[in-house]
Amino acid sequence: MILILEPNTDPDSDAYRQLMNFLEQLPNIQTRTHRVVGAEQTLTEIYLIGNTSALAVDEMSTLPTVERVVRISEEYRIIGRHHDNERSLEFTYKGVTFSQHELHVFAGLCAVDTPKHVEMMMQALQEHGQVCTRMGAYKPRTSPYAFQGHGKSCLPYVFELAGKYGIRVIAMEVTHENHVREIHEALDQTGHPTGVMLQIGTRNTQNFELLKAVGRQSEMPVLLKRGFGITLEESLNAAEYLASEGNSRIVFGLRGMKTNMGDPHRNFVDFAHVPVVKRLSRLPVCIDPSHSVGSRDRAPDRLLDAMHVTAQGVIAGANMVLVDFHPVPEKALVDGPQALRLDELALFLQDVQIAREAYLNRVALMREHTAEP
Ligand code: PEP
Ligand code: MN
Repeated sequence: MILILEPNTDPDSDAYRQLMNFLEQLPNIQTRTHRVVGAEQTLTEIYLIGNTSALAVDEMSTLPTVERVVRISEEYRIIGRHHDNERSLEFTYKGVTFSQHELHVFAGLCAVDTPKHVEMMMQALQEHGQVCTRMGAYKPRTSPYAFQGHGKSCLPYVFELAGKYGIRVIAMEVTHENHVREIHEALDQTGHPTGVMLQIGTRNTQNFELLKAVGRQSEMPVLLKRGFGITLEESLNAAEYLASEGNSRIVFGLRGMKTNMGDPHRNFVDFAHVPVVKRLSRLPVCIDPSHSVGSRDRAPDRLLDAMHVTAQGVIAGANMVLVDFHPVPEKALVDGPQALRLDELALFLQDVQIAREAYLNRVALMREHTAEP
């Protein structure tokens, strides 16, 4: 059972103390408090764990500072929706709000290679009004002989260039908890010119120690990619690991599943799960058209497959698009063949906008259709 308190409830107030005293006296019930600090308000949720079937929702709703009570199922205690469409789990990081209602494009380099390419990318993003990007410094590669990313050595110039071009959030994969520390140190050293969304890649979705380490810090939000060979339920449980350690500032990423059934795409595109993840969880949902399609192939209508699947994900309500671009794809050290070119950025953003408007129109139409008389 979750007690959702009135917004901005002060933990030092008498009412809050009365509530906690009451809860402490309940037999066989433990409490766990979860605070979500947003731009405008702080939301406090108290999770009651134990024999909650003996507690009546009506009675608990009358306790001091309690706004609403939600009875939860066993799964996804923190990230889950639990049949309650009112509850949002939005967060604002570096002035950018992430929720199931927003949409942000994170176009950028799969892997950082040279300062020049980083700068060209960031400059193009600024010219097109973008404040988010992706930049890989730590790359998990299939072959031990492949380029592994520049690691911590590139962080200072990546962060400084981001600051120079007004980039506020960089999605950056980490494969070890040391990387979190290195990113933190480099941000400190450069004076926090930008922010980082820590990305947990598909190969690490069930790396529980990494999940716990990333979940223990709550300064940086997390983009958790769905595991490419496990069920959706298992991947959502991975997100719950992050939240249960204290960090519920999570975006859930769909990036395709590993099976030959999706050939000729690199992975089987799973963006039909966008609305499913929004129903099962309160997390914003990201789609990654680059790592699911894996090529620049195009259909007879001239649209790239990557653009087609992006539109499919966005028209289904996706909240974030993570997409590979490169100023000189032939020179990219990782995933050049799937990268879009900078002269395609405007086109890509416009195409996303068309799909986004179509999504909003579809929602409005359905709302009219289901409106109470
Ligand atoms: C990436 O986004 O660079 C990446 C490696 O993605 P994934 O973990 O989905 O393969
Ligand atoms: Mn890649």
